[in-house]
Parts: sequence; C-alpha cells; structure tokens
Amino acid sequence: MINKANYQKILTQIQEKSAKLVAVSKTKPISDIQELYEVGQRIFGENYVQELVEKQTALPNDIEWHFIGHLQSKKVKQIAPFVSMIHAVDSWKLLEEIDKRAAQNERTIDCLLQMHIAQESSKFGMDEKEIEAIVLQAKQQNLTNIRICGLMGMATFTDDKEQVKVEFQSLKKTFDSIKQQYFETQDSFCQISMGMSGDFELALQQGSTMLRIGSLLFGQRIYQ
Ligand SMILES: *Cc1c(COP(=O)(O)O)cnc(C)c1O
Repeated sequence: MINKANYQKILTQIQEKSAKLVAVSKTKPISDIQELYEVGQRIFGENYVQELVEKQTALPNDIEWHFIGHLQSKKVKQIAPFVSMIHAVDSWKLLEEIDKRAAQNERTIDCLLQMHIAQESSKFGMDEKEIEAIVLQAKQQNLTNIRICGLMGMATFTDDKEQVKVEFQSLKKTFDSIKQQYFETQDSFCQISMGMSGDFELALQQGSTMLRIGSLLFGQRIYQ
C-alpha cells in the first residue's frame, strides 16, 4: 500500500523547488511500485542489485532506475544494461568499473560521488580531498561512458536538526567548490542528492536537487 496523499504533498514541495523525487522502493513489492507508477512517478531508487534486476524485468520500460545503495564493483555488470544513475560512487575502482560496463552496453551512466557528511562512521563516502582526486583522475583518463553529475550524502540519523542542517550545508558547499573548480562550463554537474523521509524538508531548504524518499511513500520497511 502506498500513501498517495503523502506522495502528492511531497511532490508539490519538491517541484516548487525544481528538484526531483526518487521514490525509494527497496524491500517493497512490485505492486506498490506499479501503483506509484500509475499516478505518474517515473524515478525509483533501489539498494540491492538482485532486487533491482528482478523489479526492472517485471516493470515498465520507461522507469528511470537509480541505484542508491553501496555498490560492489563485481555487481556493476548486472545493472549496467539499464540503470540510469548510480548515487553512491565512493571509489575510483568503482567508477572505472561503471565506465567499463557502460561501454560494453554502449551506454553512458550518470554517477554521483558520495560524500561522508554524517557523524556515524558506519556511513560510506569520501571526504572533499578524495572527491577532488577522483574528479581529476576521471578528467585525465577521459572516461567516456560515465558522467559525473554531482554529489550525494546521507546526514546523521538524529533529531538534532541543527546538526543535520550543518551536514547538508557542508555537502552543498563542497558541491559549489567542485563545480566552480572543475565543471564550470559543464551543465551536467548539477545534482545534489540529499534528503530522506526524516529530513527532506531541511534538505530542500539547503539546496537539494534530488530527494530520496521511501517510508513516507511506501510505509515503514520490515528490514532496512
Ligand atoms: C533507504 C534509503 C533512503 C530512503 O529512506 P527513508 O527514510 O525510508 O525515506 C534514502 N537513501 C538511501 C541511501 C537509502 O538507503
């Protein structure tokens, strides 16, 4: 069961800011995705490779699938034929592998680099220096089948709004600095993927362009 009232409300807030909604459907059944598809949603986000492949096969072809979880290099080839965007690129090795598999499929895959902004050490991602190093390397080696479209981050899981706000601000600041230094003439570097069910309003205020929202649309998950 999906929550259509929440969907319309959230979509309106997001569209007012010209941002995009990624409906996070991990662990949820195909019927739920179909239901949201029928009211117009086209971008869906998944975290697990096997689950994504199964859903992609079963659902309409004009869905834009985003892989938003931690991705192992050896699994890239399974999603490379169809995935639109990979949100959580956190190493050079992974970016190179995405480029290679995209080339084999004669595609270009949009990528976001994941920045570690949370206090928890369990969350994946890189610091600003590591992000810069990857951006430089990608430019030098001229990877032709990936496009670095921006940054992604996950804030600390906390009720402390000030903390979350500061973390989103640090992502935005890094985005602006990387854009200015390396992508000034490239419009494709334009996405800041931040904000989930618990903090999407704050993320929108801080300049998010892509909100990854699951439980507010699909209900609580049984497992994460
Ligand atoms: C699960 C997940 C989300 C969505 O979480 P909700 O709190 O259900 O909105 C967003 N981003 C990532 C990376 C996730 O794994």
